[in-house]
Amino acid sequence: MKNEDSSLKPSMPEIEKKLLERIQKSGTSLRIMHVCGTHERTIAKYGLRSVLPENIEVISGPGCPVCVTPEKDVDIAIALAKSGATVVTFGDMMRVPGSAESLLDAKAEGTDVRMVYSIDDAVALANKKPELEVVFFGIGFETTVPANAAALLRNPPENFSLLASQKQTPPAIELLASDTVVDAFIAPGHVATIIGTKPFEHLAEKGFPVVVSGFEARDILLGINLLLTQTEQGVARVDNGYPRAVKPEGNPIALKMMNEVFETSESEWRGIGNIENSGLVLRQEYEEKDASKKYEDFYSASLAEIKAKAEKKDKKRCICAAILTGKAKPSQCPNFGKDCTPKNPAGPCMVSQEGMCYNWFRYSREGGSRFA
Ligand code: SF4
Repeated sequence: MKNEDSSLKPSMPEIEKKLLERIQKSGTSLRIMHVCGTHERTIAKYGLRSVLPENIEVISGPGCPVCVTPEKDVDIAIALAKSGATVVTFGDMMRVPGSAESLLDAKAEGTDVRMVYSIDDAVALANKKPELEVVFFGIGFETTVPANAAALLRNPPENFSLLASQKQTPPAIELLASDTVVDAFIAPGHVATIIGTKPFEHLAEKGFPVVVSGFEARDILLGINLLLTQTEQGVARVDNGYPRAVKPEGNPIALKMMNEVFETSESEWRGIGNIENSGLVLRQEYEEKDASKKYEDFYSASLAEIKAKAEKKDKKRCICAAILTGKAKPSQCPNFGKDCTPKNPAGPCMVSQEGMCYNWFRYSREGGSRFA
């Protein structure tokens, strides 16, 4: 229920107030894109859009890992489960629709689909149950990939394999920079913790001010301040607004592990299409751990059935693609809050706590601010 009594709301802390005052005083117009589901969660949770002046717009890009996982990869995971494999993945991923159904639907049909909290849980299951063919459906950005690399370097058992749907963030941001009306970028702090700030310098070279930001409300407000300063000074560089976690060179140990196990490839992003150099696939030395190749002969018949089912399905129109590219807002989708809710998601952006539709439904449908 909407609470109109501002005396029950916490007042904004002093640091946030000062950061906001500076933003509110600046007359500079700025359309800022962030590319991180956790940033969207902070912005929605604290109602930051409702306190920003009209000249500052913050839009969301493709920063939610389950939202950008393409239907075709979900379909392969389902086809593997239908062919007898034990498919394990994160809870959110189980609810994301493929072209015909979700992994959770496949589980309800009797296939062996299980939720895990990490790839290590999946490896432990494979060790404990050698009679199962355990496939870990590994999705996500540079933040989750090092854990996948570490698990593979530890020589997991023969009955374990990885279905990799892993993405690299900078190539997607670069594509959006040329395709979307945007003036500046807030880069994802946790991705930069791994890859550092250098991979975002291409954007600055193209004239876009960039700031790497953390995940508190004050981090976002500080980030907007730094982007305003760059714009007002007529410069474009990468500012590190999250130095407590991010070093310019990133995390060299994590990068080395990733590079040892994975190589860059083209990758499909849901709603965007194929983006060159934006994927991370297993290197040839690890091919026997690649579920998409190891079991291809087994799952291809199930995959064909899923595709046939998808053609007959009457799909609800989902505008996630436009939302993930900053071209639409969740409230512009006719299904938002009606045929699509977190309990019953019709599209990937409503599934996860990192999805823009989820966060708008959960926190900011009424446009209110958490602060009085
Ligand atoms: S509200 Fe649902 S159907 Fe509409 S764009 Fe969001 S996820 Fe897709």
